[in-house]
Amino acid sequence: MERYQDSQLYRIRHSTAHVMAQAVLEKFPEAKIAIGPPIEDGFYYDFDLPRALTDEDLAEIEQRMRAIIKEGHEFVRKEVSAAEARALFHDQPHKIELIDGLEQGGIDEYGEKTDEAVVISTYTQDTFEDLCRGPHVANTSEINPDAISITFKAPAGAYWRGDENREMLTRIYGTAWESAEQLEEYLELLEEAKKRDHRKIGQDLGLFTFSTEVGKGLPLWKPNGAVLRDALERYLRDVQLGRGYVPINTPHIARVALYERSGHYPYYKDSQYSPFDVEGDLFMLKPMNCPHHIHIYKDDLHSYRDLPLRVAEFGTVYRYEKSGELHGLTRVRGFTQDDAHIFCTPEQLEDEFIAVIDLVEFIFNGLGLSDYRARVGIRDPESDKYVGSDDNWEKAAAAIIAAAEKRNLTFTVEEGEAAFYGPKLDFVVRDALKREWQISTIQVDYNLPERFELEYIGADNERHQPIMIHRALYGSLERFIAVLIEHYAGAFPAWLHPTQVWLIPIADRHLEYAEDVTAQLEAAGLRAHIDNSQNRMGGKIAIATQQKVPWMLIMGDRDIKNGAVSVRLRSGEDLGAMPVADFVAKAQEIVESKSLELA
Ligand SMILES: [Zn+2]
Ligand SMILES: [Zn+2]
Repeated sequence: MERYQDSQLYRIRHSTAHVMAQAVLEKFPEAKIAIGPPIEDGFYYDFDLPRALTDEDLAEIEQRMRAIIKEGHEFVRKEVSAAEARALFHDQPHKIELIDGLEQGGIDEYGEKTDEAVVISTYTQDTFEDLCRGPHVANTSEINPDAISITFKAPAGAYWRGDENREMLTRIYGTAWESAEQLEEYLELLEEAKKRDHRKIGQDLGLFTFSTEVGKGLPLWKPNGAVLRDALERYLRDVQLGRGYVPINTPHIARVALYERSGHYPYYKDSQYSPFDVEGDLFMLKPMNCPHHIHIYKDDLHSYRDLPLRVAEFGTVYRYEKSGELHGLTRVRGFTQDDAHIFCTPEQLEDEFIAVIDLVEFIFNGLGLSDYRARVGIRDPESDKYVGSDDNWEKAAAAIIAAAEKRNLTFTVEEGEAAFYGPKLDFVVRDALKREWQISTIQVDYNLPERFELEYIGADNERHQPIMIHRALYGSLERFIAVLIEHYAGAFPAWLHPTQVWLIPIADRHLEYAEDVTAQLEAAGLRAHIDNSQNRMGGKIAIATQQKVPWMLIMGDRDIKNGAVSVRLRSGEDLGAMPVADFVAKAQEIVESKSLELA
């Protein structure tokens, strides 16, 4: 499969970003430009502008972009020295800062760390020259002027270099496609995605919140969200128990020395919180659960007969994310992994790996995420950021590919996508809007067992080294819930929904009956809520519908007389009146079987 970075669409988007920067500079000659990379589905460019942008400005910029494109300008590449680059961009302070980084090495023109030696180059089209490594289309005529659009019209900003101590810039997002039809389809999708934004639905359904006093990127789960989260945890715990996993539990901090031995420190230093002193010893917040789990293995002497050992924990880890990168539940500073480690013999590796693939597929299908693909991540042969011998890397990659083939998975192999200690198999899920999310990961590791000198006694009575499989199915529970929220637009399957049944007594005199029905629902293990407000029935139905509650039970005089409830689904479908006991049995069956249907 062609990598996005090598595609024509990537060059088109990158080139359109330059065209947008030209149009913005023509309108605001005093503007300062920062960076403008292509991103998934489009591009952006950050500017320091003299004033806030209006919709009219954006329309004008978009129109001017089309005109520039139609003029058919060539993109001309030029290599320059750092001194020449400084002269070219003397009135662009952000570019000067980037040139400093390029000259010192290790930082590319987007301000990102890089291992590559960077040649300083510029690209020019028409009147606009940008510090840029490309690639670009040869001529703006390769861009379809009817397939471009500025997409983010609300005020959007980003800190320069993602650093909240630096200035806030205006970020303009855009998109470009090959045909007008593709653009239209994408814009429709974007509109739908806005409605499904998990931050909005999370607030509407009272799932979670953030508080600046607690701290950015630290989600607070409200009762409704905690119920949903608990349902997901229980589900997986139960399934794992049936598949030979054992639960363990480990603390949130550990000595830095532990991570030095594992190799996480200093490798992950930039994404970890600073160590802190405890009685003269350095500790840190746990960025990974693996080393803790390893010490649980190490505490006992293992025979090949006890293996595999499959230990599982919902382990909370802490990673540093710049405030500019934080996003709802998908980029947070502390999150919980459904983390498990399997310690096995070389002979068991393939079967164990296949069993994990099977578990992933079982969970995905159970949650209605049936559209997914797999990706085998192997080393980048040119990078030195990996630990362990070539032989182990090759064995591990071969085992993963063999397992994926046996399970008939559709997969691609991607270089440079491995963990630092071993290759892995990732699962990428496509949601209801066909957006891709990397969710589960399964990794084969020969290296941590070596670093921690793990052993088992083999059939030959000799000491051998076990192999470790690292696996997380939900990945980050926070992120996974965000994906579920957006996939279902909040209309979760009944077993997951925080409130399964919403009781709507038509008048106050029906309240007592509602309480009686609630007691029956709760006795059947169902989560119910009575709307005892003074709203009229229509208003009560509207609230329950907005809460995406699976079942509404409307009750008035006739229902009481018949010992019935009138059942309505969140889709608006009216199932009519049925005896209370029948509804309770039906709902209970749907919830217990984790059905995705409501009737
Ligand atoms: Zn560029
Ligand atoms: Zn691990």
